Amino acid sequence: MSAEFIDIGSNLTHESFDADRAGVMSRARAAGVVHQVVTGATVASSRAALELARAHPDTLTATAGVHPHHAAGLDASSREDLRELLVDPRVVAVGECGLDYFRDLSPRPAQRRAFVAQLELAVESGKPVFLHQRDAHGDFLGILADYAASLSGGVAHCFTGGAPELEAYLALGLSVGITGWICDERRGSRVREVVAQIPADRLMIETDAPYLLPRDLSPKPASRRNEPAFLPHIAAVVAALRGVHVQEIAAVTTANARRFFGLKDS
Ligand SMILES: [Zn+2]
Repeated sequence: MSAEFIDIGSNLTHESFDADRAGVMSRARAAGVVHQVVTGATVASSRAALELARAHPDTLTATAGVHPHHAAGLDASSREDLRELLVDPRVVAVGECGLDYFRDLSPRPAQRRAFVAQLELAVESGKPVFLHQRDAHGDFLGILADYAASLSGGVAHCFTGGAPELEAYLALGLSVGITGWICDERRGSRVREVVAQIPADRLMIETDAPYLLPRDLSPKPASRRNEPAFLPHIAAVVAALRGVHVQEIAAVTTANARRFFGLKDS
């Protein structure tokens, strides 16, 4: 049997896929990507992700949340919208949520409020959190520490940090999502050094498509658009850095994703 992969972070509702979404999905399937967890970043995109998951129940599920970039827009009524979305069994996580002090597209107090609100929704719904953190490690850990024990799980999506960040996340019980960031020898040097230290039962993989096209992909698509079909390439880089066969990375990360998100076997 050929290797099966699960992409835990695919922005499949992104407009760059509007013209050929069916083709993107069939290329992913042909590459062995048996399931995609479609990321929600606003109430509207979370709703769109759920609609897509409803239309493709065997291969897609969704998250529902508000990205820190959009945190300023999370008010009482959009919080209710998220709460309603989270009732659906096809919505398998809260997020993406967290803090982004690198781009600061929402004011930091609003980011912290939105993060807390979504952690509370995660506790209430019993669903895990899909976490985004950039240049906000201290505040992120401080907020998360209050909720970690009550959460049913959390994954640090697009982990790009080094040993101190990894140790702190593992201590809070988080899983770790690795993207094509790791395929960049310079920019990804910190995560490349520690990827072998992630316990096998905490490791998952994701493309974050259409973003983060793996730098060493060859040939590169002319569009520079990343696709879920490139997930096995990321898995191969992770496998090489951990000194194992890619089949083992596929088996381990797929089992972890099924358990973490409560997905049925395909
Ligand atoms: Zn993110």
